[in-house]
Amino acid sequence: MKMLKAASLTAVVALSAQMATAQEQFITIGTGGQTGVYYVVGQSICRLVNRGTADHNLRCTAPSTGGSIANINAIKAGDMDMGVAQSDWQFHAYNGTSEYEGDKFDKLRAVFSVHGEPFTVLARADAGITDFADLKGKRVNVGNPGSGQRATMDVVLNALGWSIDDFAMASELQPSEQAAALGDNKVDAIVYTVGHPNGSIQEATSTVDSRLVNLTGPEIEALIADNPYYAKATIPGGMYAGNDNETTTFGVKATFVTSADVDDEVVYTVVKAVFDNFDRFKGLHPAFANLTEEEMIANGNSAPLHPGAEKYYRERGWIQ
Ligand code: GLU
Repeated sequence: MKMLKAASLTAVVALSAQMATAQEQFITIGTGGQTGVYYVVGQSICRLVNRGTADHNLRCTAPSTGGSIANINAIKAGDMDMGVAQSDWQFHAYNGTSEYEGDKFDKLRAVFSVHGEPFTVLARADAGITDFADLKGKRVNVGNPGSGQRATMDVVLNALGWSIDDFAMASELQPSEQAAALGDNKVDAIVYTVGHPNGSIQEATSTVDSRLVNLTGPEIEALIADNPYYAKATIPGGMYAGNDNETTTFGVKATFVTSADVDDEVVYTVVKAVFDNFDRFKGLHPAFANLTEEEMIANGNSAPLHPGAEKYYRERGWIQ
């Protein structure tokens, strides 16, 4: 009798576990470092998706990652379902150019674009750096491997005819480590392609007297003119301590991407969670405040839109 009871209990437990797996589908969104904005993008999307889990059975997580390149590669490998990536790396991954030469990801799909990301250089005020050219011979954190800034820094160096050897030292610290490195005088400057305001630059500028550095000139103008995914960008004055003047540089857009292998229904549900609650989404980070639906589905996306996203945009009358 006892035996029988135990056996039926096991059966019930097994059955409910099976029901739970049948009911809930887990999806993962690749983000960036915890002091950046991608982390907030992923966390915000998941928050909106998970409010509706009882209805659609999707459960979303958005762990911290190395950034753009790491996210695109994880989606390609099938380790992640979606992720945030710079518009330049979306373009190159889909077209098999630049870093992705010979490594084309033609199943990469765009979902929408998000905030603008100026290529940002912050230098210690005592380092004698007023212009990007002053970085020559200095100690610079060029970005962690797998990040968008690390890869875009190579593009900038190339355009200027420099190499990594032009720095006295080039470190590859994570965004979460770079503010402390600047404050501790381990580096003279840090490089970050990121939306503003963000935790990393806020931490750095409030810890050590430091200045955002302009990045302009004919080489940068040529980069902007020759590539659809680059644009002139500014960081408003007064956003960070000690930086009252506007900073001029170039920039990309943060974009939200996935793979053609991810189910239409899953992408549709995620997109619906964001745009059905768009005001709430925009309130989750100051860098999202000026987003508009039109720009998010039209700008910064070079890979084709995922059909699940298209279905929602069509229902809303935003595309034909
Ligand atoms: N643009 C950076 C990257 O691609 C991430 C910036 C952020 O985390 O907000 O890695």
